[in-house]
Amino acid sequence: MLEANYSFFHSVEQSFDKAAKFTKWEKGLLEQIKACNSIYSMKFPVKMDDGRIEVIEAYRVQHSQHKTPCKGGIRFSMAVNQDEVMALASLMTYKCAIVNVPFGGGKGGIKINPKAHSSYELEKITRRYTSELVKKNFIGPGIDVPAPDYGTGEREMAWIVDTYQSLKPGEIDSAGCVTGKPVSQGGVRGRKEATGLGVFFGIREVCNMPDLMAKLGLTTGVNGKKVVVQGLGNVGYHSAKFFREHGAVVVSIAEFEGAIYKEDGINEEDLFQHRKATGSILNFPGATNLAKSTDALELACDILIPAALENVINGDNAPRVQAKIIGEAANGPLTPEADEIFTQKGILVVPDMYLNAGGVTVSYFEWLKNLSHVRYGRMEKRFTENMNHHILSQLEDLTGKKVSDAERNFIEHGADEVDLVHSGLEETMITATREIMDIWKANPEIPDMRTAAYVCAINKVGTSYSELGIFP
Ligand code: GLU
Repeated sequence: MLEANYSFFHSVEQSFDKAAKFTKWEKGLLEQIKACNSIYSMKFPVKMDDGRIEVIEAYRVQHSQHKTPCKGGIRFSMAVNQDEVMALASLMTYKCAIVNVPFGGGKGGIKINPKAHSSYELEKITRRYTSELVKKNFIGPGIDVPAPDYGTGEREMAWIVDTYQSLKPGEIDSAGCVTGKPVSQGGVRGRKEATGLGVFFGIREVCNMPDLMAKLGLTTGVNGKKVVVQGLGNVGYHSAKFFREHGAVVVSIAEFEGAIYKEDGINEEDLFQHRKATGSILNFPGATNLAKSTDALELACDILIPAALENVINGDNAPRVQAKIIGEAANGPLTPEADEIFTQKGILVVPDMYLNAGGVTVSYFEWLKNLSHVRYGRMEKRFTENMNHHILSQLEDLTGKKVSDAERNFIEHGADEVDLVHSGLEETMITATREIMDIWKANPEIPDMRTAAYVCAINKVGTSYSELGIFP
């Protein structure tokens, strides 16, 4: 169990301090990087379907404006509090820096249980929250750009952009006030699966590093690796999907109602449909139910992907975790105590603020699309296809041989929006993994990958602050 006075923000600060020792920045600058610049805590009334007035507690925190806009999701959860939003906003700053996305960090939260409200009530809450942000200048394509997070998705983002646009008529770039929108409302193809795909790309890159795998006693590559996923929400679902599609075996999936185990692998889509039909992931055909949901975290496996909420692995259960690699798909799933235990046990923890950066990376692509007012691929797709067709015809004429229809389609295909988004994400995750690993390798004193990731982030944000010259 977590201590009663546990502070998530403090745990982020602890990780920061641990890494700051490996950087050259002066104390004052480090203090500025760590601090949350603006905290907006609000309460507003909403009339519920039964006529009752409920006072809603909500937050938006802008951790850093070293680059603008600030960026980060909005979560709907009863666990929302100022400390949590501050921690998550800080992680966004570091996350954006690591993946070279030119934003400061932000985060929002509304303290509600989305399952306890009708969609009409949720719409009213979301719209009111947005207008509160507009009133205080806490939202805008150049100020602060929210996105989905735990308990929110495309639907909520559509309400946000609509509310914003009705309050700011004629603002030409207004679609860029929020990301994670439906494609019909200015969203980008590939955003929905982005975080899960980024998790996969990140872990695949780590698994492709022979020295590291040898140290962990694993073979290189993701093929055949046993994976356990906690959470069948958007991130967990897509992580499981990409691992399965690339030859890994997803042996267990956990949700809040329980966990299941299936030696020969779980198909996440079948499980999703089963849950939809029965209301639970339990009793999935061919699988065994585990006694408790958290038992999944302690199964023997190669890769454990906590893709639900924070602090699920702590001092209590960490000693029983058997995975060789833990990929933090959620934000803050490990407490510093758990981290310490894994470092000692030689378990590789691939840290959240880099591993789950796929969401914000593709949000960046969506924002760029909104500012440029043109779909990716629109200008070049046809040109590429015509050129590829021409090159292939020339080769066929010169060699006197013909390729198969399937090959022809593959070679001639010009990139669509989703192709470009996926490849931009792949490039981003590979580059970020290598940058962090280079820092770790260059300094053997750095105890773990999280600290190396923080060093990477601190150096980038530090450079940015110092080059701004804002300290008279
Ligand atoms: N909520 C996601 C995160 O924590 C996405 C943020 C965004 O796209 O701005 O990274």
